[in-house]
Amino acid sequence: METIRLLGTRGSIPISKTRNGGRVDKFGGNTSSIAIEGEEKTIIIDAGSGIKNYTSENPEILLAITHAHDDHVIGLGFWQDAYNPTKRIRVVGDENHLDELRNHYRYDNGFFPVDLENMGGIKEINPINGESLRFGYYELRPIKLNHPQGSTGYIIKAEKKIVGIIFDHEHEPDIGRIGEKDRELIEQIKGCDVVIVDGAYTPEEYCPEKFGLKGINKIGWGHSVDLKIAMMAKMAGIERIVLTHHSPDRDDTQLTKREKELQEIVGREVSLAREGESIII
Ligand SMILES: [Zn+2]
Ligand SMILES: [Zn+2]
Repeated sequence: METIRLLGTRGSIPISKTRNGGRVDKFGGNTSSIAIEGEEKTIIIDAGSGIKNYTSENPEILLAITHAHDDHVIGLGFWQDAYNPTKRIRVVGDENHLDELRNHYRYDNGFFPVDLENMGGIKEINPINGESLRFGYYELRPIKLNHPQGSTGYIIKAEKKIVGIIFDHEHEPDIGRIGEKDRELIEQIKGCDVVIVDGAYTPEEYCPEKFGLKGINKIGWGHSVDLKIAMMAKMAGIERIVLTHHSPDRDDTQLTKREKELQEIVGREVSLAREGESIII
């Protein structure tokens, strides 16, 4: 049995309120990070600002990075476990993204005053480059996602259940149609019990001109429309679909309303991720 902890559910930038002053304490303002706690080992996917207040009970930790955009790595330098020499943290990810992470956490580069290699809790940094990896009884299968500068999703086989974490991904741009690439993702997440997936935008936010609205077109920004991605997960037969990476412009009132709408259209299996939420599997 494992506990999935949603440590950060916001996309792009940590916020304490939206631009218009809307509250975000129900769904959270911290950026992407998820912990999966088993009895002896902990897997963490990404180190957005949500990781800052988290401490793993287990000293054995695998930190898998999806990519090195700020919202997925900015918490690492402020996470106590990273400096705790009694922890055994192994950082894995695509080679390019690990290089970018090292560049971010390198004194000489001017972003942060501590080198990644000098954080006392981090014992290994290993590229995985598309290969599956074992960590105790867990098996992690990386999948390639569609995102500017690339992004990796992880299908994690835990003791009894399978969890898919698809943080930053954009489906094919036609929101009214399931395309070839969309079908590939559906195939890859088939068999998961829970999928936590990028649902950053409403259809109107993604392509406002299609709805006769003014606003910035977000096609090509690397994120998904909540309704389309939820339908794709439903087509894959997923029983629990958790949409995350909420846009920093969406407040609690909008997200609560949207969750209800999505449940009416797609079904009760869909929910929007709340920071601090736990899912037992
Ligand atoms: Zn992101
Ligand atoms: Zn990103």
